[in-house]
Amino acid sequence: MFLKRIDVVGFKSFADKTGIDFSPGITAVVGPNGSGKSNIADAIRWVLGEQSAKNLRGSKMEDVIFAGSETRRPINFCEVTLTLDNTDRHLPVVFDEVTVTRRVYRSGESEYFINRQPCRLRDITELFMDSGMGRESYSIIGQGRIEEMLSTRPEDRRGPFEDAAGIVKFKFRKREAERKLEETAANIVRVDDLLSELQ
Ligand code: ATP
Repeated sequence: MFLKRIDVVGFKSFADKTGIDFSPGITAVVGPNGSGKSNIADAIRWVLGEQSAKNLRGSKMEDVIFAGSETRRPINFCEVTLTLDNTDRHLPVVFDEVTVTRRVYRSGESEYFINRQPCRLRDITELFMDSGMGRESYSIIGQGRIEEMLSTRPEDRRGPFEDAAGIVKFKFRKREAERKLEETAANIVRVDDLLSELQ
């Protein structure tokens, strides 16, 4: 799997529709300070489901939408699409190419798409779980992240290692199963109450 292309519109400093192609091998993005290099990494993290505005270097989620400049009015929504080559079937879907899209409006409404089909954030999270490219994964190491990982609590440091070991989806499914068991146990108690009332 590799990231082939990213398309952004209205995301942070990218007011206009902008597409960047990545070829296999190393790609370096160079430019003056404040020209938007880190915003590209933020866009990748955002489309993969990042929900923390702080991790995207903002104070609220709306900060990812182009806020206007001296010459341009603010924009009302932003959209980011990643195109991934999946010919090696690293992602567990039958497609050679996978696109994921996230769109958000200033009103707060969000939309997600996989291969242009509307989906839930959860579908995107599950698709990338244990792929090495998920929201918590080790494939995007932002500024200060190494220092943060070294100084953080050991439990928090486990995230990227668990992703690399491929156990995140099992932990996720275990939590889901435990939640359903709790719900079922609560339903059984309720049914027992109703039965004893009827007897
Ligand atoms: P450095 O080399 O200093 O790390 P950089 O090239 O990585 O810089 P970024 O941090 O990606 O630059 O981009 C910062 C720029 O993005 C700033 O000019 C900032 O004003 C602009 N920016 C961030 N959020 C928005 C927004 N919502 N609307 C418009 N511009 C924004």
